[in-house]
Amino acid sequence: MRPKLSGIVLFLAISSSVAAASSGHPTHEPHVHGIAALNVIVEKNAVHLALESPAMNLLGFEHAPVTDEQKAAYQATQQKLTEASKLFAFPGANCQLESSNIQMLEKHAHADHDGHEHSGEHADVDADYRFNCSRIQELREIRIHLFTVFPGIQQIKAQWITGRSQGIKTLTPATNHLQLK
Ligand SMILES: [Zn+2]
Repeated sequence: MRPKLSGIVLFLAISSSVAAASSGHPTHEPHVHGIAALNVIVEKNAVHLALESPAMNLLGFEHAPVTDEQKAAYQATQQKLTEASKLFAFPGANCQLESSNIQMLEKHAHADHDGHEHSGEHADVDADYRFNCSRIQELREIRIHLFTVFPGIQQIKAQWITGRSQGIKTLTPATNHLQLK
C-alpha cells in the first residue's frame, strides 16, 4: 500500500536526479554494504519514511534463509522492522504509525555492487512507513534509531522534503537526527 501523495512525484524527481548524479542509476542508490538510504516526505499531517538498505546490514546475509540460525535472524529482523516506534522518533509531534510495508529480500537493479560486477547474490530490505501526527506543526526533527537497532548500518543517506523545504544529509550513529527546518 503506497499512498498517492502529490509530494511523492516531486520527491521522486529530486531523488532520481540526485541518484543519477551520484551513481548514474536513475532509481536506486548504489548497493554498498554498511550504507542505507532513507527518504522522508512530510505532507499535511503525515510523515512517510522509505528505508532501502542492503539486507547484509540488517540480516547479515542476502539470500533466502537456509539454516535455523538464518531463519531466526530473518524472523528477528522482520520483527524489529515492524516496531517502527523504536526506529523513529518525532519529538513533540505526537506521531502514530498508520501503516507499513516491509520487503525483506528485494532484488534491485543497482548501478554498483561494492565496485564489483553484479553477481546476483545481492538483495535489499525495503521498509516503508506512514505516520500520522496530531501536532505536525511541532515537528522540527526526526530522530533515527536505526543505528542502534541495526549495528550493521554505519551510514544513512537521507533525503527529506516538506511543504516548505527540503534537504539531504548523511546520518551516522553520532549524528542520527534529521533537522527539518
Ligand atoms: Zn550486497
